[in-house]
Amino acid sequence: MSDVRRSHEDGFGEEILAWASMLAVLPIPAALVDADGHIVDRNRWIEAEVGAPLVDLESVKEAPGLAFGIDEATRWRVRPLDEGAGILLATAEREDAGDHLLRKFFSSGDSLFVVYDQFGRVVESNAAWENLLGYGHDEVFGLDSWTLLPPSDLETRDRVERELRTQGRSEPVFEMRTKDGAYRLVQWALHFDTSVGRCFGIGRDITEENRLANELHRMAYTDELTELPNRTKLIDTLEAILGTSATPAVLFCDLDHFKVVNDSLGHHTGDLLLKAIADRIGALATAPDSFFARLGGDEFVFLLNDSSWDIATATAERILGLLGEPFSVLGHSLHANMSIGIAMAQAEGDRTAETILGEADTAAYKAKALGRNRYRKFDEGLRATVDRRFNVEAGLRAALANDQFEVHYQPIVALPGAGVVGLEALVRWRASDGTLMLPGEFLDVAEEAGLMPDIGREVIKQALTVAAEFADGGRPLPMSINASAAELGCGADYVTQVIDLAAELGLDPSLILLEVTESSVVAVESILPTLNAFRSYGVRIGLDDFGTGFSSLSHLRTLPIDVVKVDRTFVSDLLGDQVTRAVTSSLLNLCAALGLDVVLEGVETTEHASAAEQLGGTMAQGYLFHRPMPLPELRKLLGRTPDGDADSSRLRRNSPLAAERTS
Ligand code: C2E
Ligand code: MG
Ligand code: MG
Repeated sequence: MSDVRRSHEDGFGEEILAWASMLAVLPIPAALVDADGHIVDRNRWIEAEVGAPLVDLESVKEAPGLAFGIDEATRWRVRPLDEGAGILLATAEREDAGDHLLRKFFSSGDSLFVVYDQFGRVVESNAAWENLLGYGHDEVFGLDSWTLLPPSDLETRDRVERELRTQGRSEPVFEMRTKDGAYRLVQWALHFDTSVGRCFGIGRDITEENRLANELHRMAYTDELTELPNRTKLIDTLEAILGTSATPAVLFCDLDHFKVVNDSLGHHTGDLLLKAIADRIGALATAPDSFFARLGGDEFVFLLNDSSWDIATATAERILGLLGEPFSVLGHSLHANMSIGIAMAQAEGDRTAETILGEADTAAYKAKALGRNRYRKFDEGLRATVDRRFNVEAGLRAALANDQFEVHYQPIVALPGAGVVGLEALVRWRASDGTLMLPGEFLDVAEEAGLMPDIGREVIKQALTVAAEFADGGRPLPMSINASAAELGCGADYVTQVIDLAAELGLDPSLILLEVTESSVVAVESILPTLNAFRSYGVRIGLDDFGTGFSSLSHLRTLPIDVVKVDRTFVSDLLGDQVTRAVTSSLLNLCAALGLDVVLEGVETTEHASAAEQLGGTMAQGYLFHRPMPLPELRKLLGRTPDGDADSSRLRRNSPLAAERTS
């Protein structure tokens, strides 16, 4: 304060004038007094609030911190403004002076008020400001405000000083250090009045607000389980990069068979595996040039901000290499493989983040189809696949809403003789334009889109109704239903759905045969309880497409199977291939020994049929006998041959050359 120091004898020079103008703008009753309590100046609130003209303060000397005015009701807080000059500032503390609105405004509420001198020293402050920073009212006077900023925040200081100097105002947000060393974030509106050399500030503590906003922001951009960036963050980042000249590469990483882990070892184990994967692969990412994000479920994306095909494929290889080592989770040693699809944003493309992501997804899908645990680059040839999947998925959702799924039925016949001994329900999709779509054209998409349980429900409803109709008509025929992995994944709900419907229809559950395929039984432990539950109600279980998977034989041992359906690739090879004949023959013997029924699928010619018979096959299914047919046709067929005996004319009618009827 040495620059403003003046002695009392100087008669209160220019600086005192500055203090006096400060007095005028202080929004509380205040006076300047000298060390003896003589009034030097006073502001207009004194008259307005205290009423009586203020005379000299009496007890300043005795009590320098606190003195009393002439008005008994008014306590005056007195503290030094300029020690050298002996100038004191006296502010009224009278409780009943409160009808003054400005004063109320100043002192109540959460708003922070502070007045600084031109050097940034505190001249006046309110309780909210003092409380926030943890200072007592007596301690703040003369405090250098800049010492309250984090030492590192020189930039804010410079900016605020510059703005105040040039524009007279500044609206900064900065952290302020409290007396005990914590920091609060405060938003300020600062106004510098050059005429009085004072800076007036109104502030708001936004620490909590900011913490909440940060937390919300973090939550909006972070995957909670793995703490990796989430889909939103990925899309935002990718969109931002697409606006630059960089060529980002998206590696869509889809875990192989993750559902199996989840289903057989529980979601907790699944979650821990996802975390472990996130950590291991996430370590490859080097922010800000790349990052690893989780889209949800078992889908991750490795994003390379500016890349090339070479770098992207090398990265994919490194990721696959990292997964070579098993993960140790809750005592299990788990292997996690990924199918990776790579898409790059080329400079000429006008693609969005979503399209590139979709392309990478498609390439990953292709990688999976090619046998998993590998990567595949997206190319134009795959674009048709993208479009198809997109259209098919939208179409399937509409089909569910509009009842466009119809079930066709393919008879299963006895060998020899070809009498109908069972039916297989096969789903078809009647598109809006009337075309009939076969499962091969849409089931993969339905599975990916999670629509299988809904489609399955429709099939089960129609098929069990038909089975009940024939049973009621004195023609009980086992109805085969194909169970998808997704439906089996529904466990007890799936069982209840089927059993409840059967009960409602009065259908004996033993007339239901649930066909499971190799692909739906990768995790034996997970579907075992479901299959056993079905069996406890009398539902029989069939192993479909037998011989196409790796573990067909072991499934015979581990799963509760009643019927084996030998895949048609065996049947078509029966004629030429001696090995196939030998394998099929021993298979049939094995099944007989295990007490299992066998159905040979895909019998297309009379030669197939007699070869199958020679090997001892007792049941078959194939175009030679019947193609899958719509219900009216089935009714006609079964109506004409009520006992299911061989009907040679029918064999001719349903020659393999006759296409599946579509109406
Ligand atoms: P799948 O369960 O093995 O059904 C037999 C498939 O072989 C049917 O194909 C049938 O039309 C075809 N097929 C029958 N006889 C012959 C033949 O002599 N030669 C040839 N080349 N093929 C024959 P579709 O109807 O196209 O069904 C294909 C697969 O789609 C089915 O194989 C099954 O796995 C699945 N699928 C069909 N309907 C459903 C369903 O409602 N739910 C589920 N989850 N899957 C279904
Ligand atoms: Mg089947
Ligand atoms: Mg089959």
